Parts: sequence; structure tokens; C-alpha cells
Amino acid sequence: MTTQALPRVLLGDEAVALAALHAGVSAAYAYPGTPSTEIFEFLAAHAAGLGVRADWCANEKTAYEQALGVSMAGRRALVSMKHVGLNVAADPFINSALVEIGGGLVVAVADDPGMHSSQNEQDSRYLADFARIVCLEPANQQEAYDMTREAFDLSERFHIPVMVRLVTRLCHSRALVEARPSRDQNPVEKAADPADWTLLPSISRRLWKGLLDLQPRLRDYSDHSGYHTLAINDGGPVGVVTTGLARNYFLENRGDLEVVPPHLHIGAYPVPDALIRQLSDGVDRILVIEEGYPFVERRLRGVLPHRWEISGKEDGTLPLDGELTPDSVRTALGLAPRPRITIGDLDLPGRPPQLCKGCPHRDSYDAVAEVLGGYDRSVVTSDIGCYTLGALPPYQAIESCVCMGASVGMAKGASDAGLRPALAVIGDSTFLHSGVTGLMDAVASDTDMTLLILDNETVAMTGLQPTVLPAGRLRPIIEGLGVDPAHVRVVDVNPRDNRQLVGAIRSEMEHHGLSVVVAVRECIEATKANRRKEREGGRA
Ligand code: SF4
Repeated sequence: MTTQALPRVLLGDEAVALAALHAGVSAAYAYPGTPSTEIFEFLAAHAAGLGVRADWCANEKTAYEQALGVSMAGRRALVSMKHVGLNVAADPFINSALVEIGGGLVVAVADDPGMHSSQNEQDSRYLADFARIVCLEPANQQEAYDMTREAFDLSERFHIPVMVRLVTRLCHSRALVEARPSRDQNPVEKAADPADWTLLPSISRRLWKGLLDLQPRLRDYSDHSGYHTLAINDGGPVGVVTTGLARNYFLENRGDLEVVPPHLHIGAYPVPDALIRQLSDGVDRILVIEEGYPFVERRLRGVLPHRWEISGKEDGTLPLDGELTPDSVRTALGLAPRPRITIGDLDLPGRPPQLCKGCPHRDSYDAVAEVLGGYDRSVVTSDIGCYTLGALPPYQAIESCVCMGASVGMAKGASDAGLRPALAVIGDSTFLHSGVTGLMDAVASDTDMTLLILDNETVAMTGLQPTVLPAGRLRPIIEGLGVDPAHVRVVDVNPRDNRQLVGAIRSEMEHHGLSVVVAVRECIEATKANRRKEREGGRA
């Protein structure tokens, strides 16, 4: 099978995946996370016929490390994740900038300004800058395709990982993409010198110096990148800088401007200082429009002398939080608001997100509520997944959600501090992602706490991806970590009779030491999807 016959009206995520396939990628690794999930899903759907390895991984760090191994073998690898996933992968990501990358290594990171499905709005360009690597930022689906292809070439040219930074609106909107002919996969070719991959301090000092010496070449690449455009237009005292998707919002309003200002669009990083200086010639003020943090705006303050006025998110010309919109950019450009159709007061009921009807977590939270009713100094920490909705009415069953796996360590800390009983609630996939190491600490201290793993046998929240290990493998892992087998309980969640689950949680919370209860029932949406697949399989 070739990908030449695939449809070309693609999500931004799909354009990245198709580009990787056409760039001769040999392997792709990911952990699901909105809005990046569809990159891997598209690639995996077409990988087998092309001899490309595609694995969902335990977490973003393990995914990144596997991609790094592929690169060490001289072949091309794509690793994809959401922005907060890059925090998990930050250790190998930052350090891999020092090694002598062999096969092209591209990290596609999807940021989520506006927090549609995330706990923060962090901007991955800062991490690319921190690692001192190249970052490409597409403004549309075609650029997502073109930049991903170029990212593999750049990675091999400069021997560094290269980031492609996306944002939600681009990931999840479609447009026509013109593809180019595929390239073959690289042959396996081991790195010539192991010292280029061994970050012992004496070697790291040499490699770090090498990375610093590379910076002028990276800046020179960026200064001459074809992804930047500089148009002087009608001239005038204000220059506009856009990055990524923000270009679209500027162009949408440009036709209404009496004087079209000089405009620099930035598509690649390091920030092209030479182009900024060119733009600044002849203007007094520069308005920076960028999705995410005021990354370029802050940089400009360092590049340009004080006589230039810099406007953007830091001075309140644009909102510092949330997504940009054509309207917020319009106001920043000094245009009057567009006429609106105002609809009178509509008394619509609120529709907060809820656990699905028939969701196994409903029964588990009922059981938790029944047990905790008897305590007045309990604490329930929780984690990231569908079960986080247990924070909302009618359950209001959990008291924290910070980052993947935090529930376990936080319950230990709360118990250490004297809050008991301490209950940590986590899903099966999140437990395998990064709850395991927290449990190891609790084992080491035999902490007085209970870990409740809600095993719904899938990664439900991001669209029913498979959990990296199936349900039956949890008990041996938990016992293997050293939890007393007498206090590891695996219980089926029975929607008609919750007594067994209530009894297991109650008795383990009364136990003064570490205990784990695994509450097992498949996500109802996964059950429906599996039945649908069986029916369709039967018809075929
Ligand atoms: S998708 Fe599955 S786990 Fe998530 S709320 Fe619905 S039934 Fe529950």
C-alpha cells in the first residue's frame, strides 16, 4: 500500500502524520493527549502497509526515548504529544539536543491555548528555545505537512531534534494539502562514535560547547527560512509581527485597514533577528500577534533598542490568556468591532460535562461516597482522565487534579502530614503512565493510604486508545512493586450490587498501611465500540 492514494483534505494533525510517512519515517511513538492524538492515530492506521513501526507508549518520556533509539540507529522517528506531555519527556528531550542525532528526530507538540482539554496553556516554543533547537510553527495544514518534512531534513543536517509546534485550532481543522512524492526509509546505520551519545560530564562539556557553537548556524538558517515573509505594504508607523496561526487572524482583518502596515510573519525559530531589525526600520511601534505566551514579544524587547514601542500581550493590547480570535486581533489593530447580530436573552440550561450514563466510574464514586461518609478528616486526591469529572456535581468526590500520576504522591504526602484516611483515585492508563513510581515511594514507606485504580480497560478520555498493558497485568505489577498481596484487591464493579466494592474500599481504608483496590469494569463507550466493530466484522 502507498499513501499516495490517501485523501488530502486533512486535519493539521493528519498532515503532520502524512508528512512523516512521506519523509521515510521508520517508527512513531506517542502517548494520547488532546489535541495531538490524531497524529499517531492517522499514522498508525497506515503504518503497517509501509513497514513503519507505530506504538502507543506508557508515557511521553518512554515514547521520546524510543524515538531517540531509532535515531541512534540512523533511521527517522516521529514522536508526538500534547504540550504538558513534553514536561514528562523534558529530560530526554533537553538532553537529546546534545547528542549527535543520526536519523531525523522530529517531536510534534500540540499546545492547547484556551485549555479546551488541558490543565494549562504553556507554550512549547519556550522548551524548544530552552533546548536550543529549531522549532517550526505552521500557520495552516499545508505548512504542517511541508514543515514536518523539512524538520526531518533539518534534524539530520544539524544533528539535533527538531520541534513542530501546533495549536488546537490547527490540529483539529481540515484543509486541502498538496503532498509530494514519498522518500525511502533510511538504512540502519549505527552512530559512528558512542562518545557522541554518552553524556558523561567530560563528554557533555564537549557536546554542550558543540551545541552552543551550532547556534549561529541555526540563527542563519532561521534568518533565511522560506517560512518567514516580510511585506512592507503601505508602510506607516506600526509594524505587525505574526507567528503561526495568528497570521490568519491578521489577514482576516487586513482588508478593513486603511493603511496596511508592514508585516513580518515568523514560521521558524530561533527568532529571525535580522528580519525583525528590517521590519523595525521605518516604524515606531511593533504589534506582536502570537498564539500562546508572549514569546516573540519578550524577545523583541531584548533585540530592539528602547526607542521602539512593543505592543502585544504584555501591555494588554491582546489578552494574555485564552486563544486569539479574529475579533481580539481586530481590536488590537485599532479597527471598530464588526457588526453583530445580537440574540435576546436565552434562558438555556447549563450543560456541564458529565460521566456517561452507564459509566463504571459512577458506581465507583458511589462506593467511595458511601465509605467516606464515616470519616471527617479524609482526603481524596485524583488524577487526569474521565474520572476527573468526579470533581463536579453530583459526585464532588475528589479534591485534586494536578498532573499525570500526581494523585499517588499527593496522597502519600497528605498521609505523611497527618490527613487520614488518604485515598488516591487514578485510572489504569494514568497509573501505568506515571502513578507506578509514586506507588514505589509509598511501598518504601509503607504509607498509610489506599490507592483506588479505576480500571476501565481503555484510555477513554482521548478516544478509546488501548491501555499499554491489559487489565489482567495490573495485579502482578502492583505486587511486584512490593505491595502486600493481602492488601491488593481486584474487584469487579457491579452496577446492580456495589457491596463488594464498598466492602473492599472500606476494609482497605481501615488497614493502617498501604493498600490497593483495583475496580474493574470496561468503559461503556468502549463496550459499544467493540460491539460495533464485531457487527461490522460480521457483515464483512
Ligand atoms: S467515556 Fe467511558 S470512562 Fe469516560 S465517562 Fe464515558 S463511560 Fe466513563
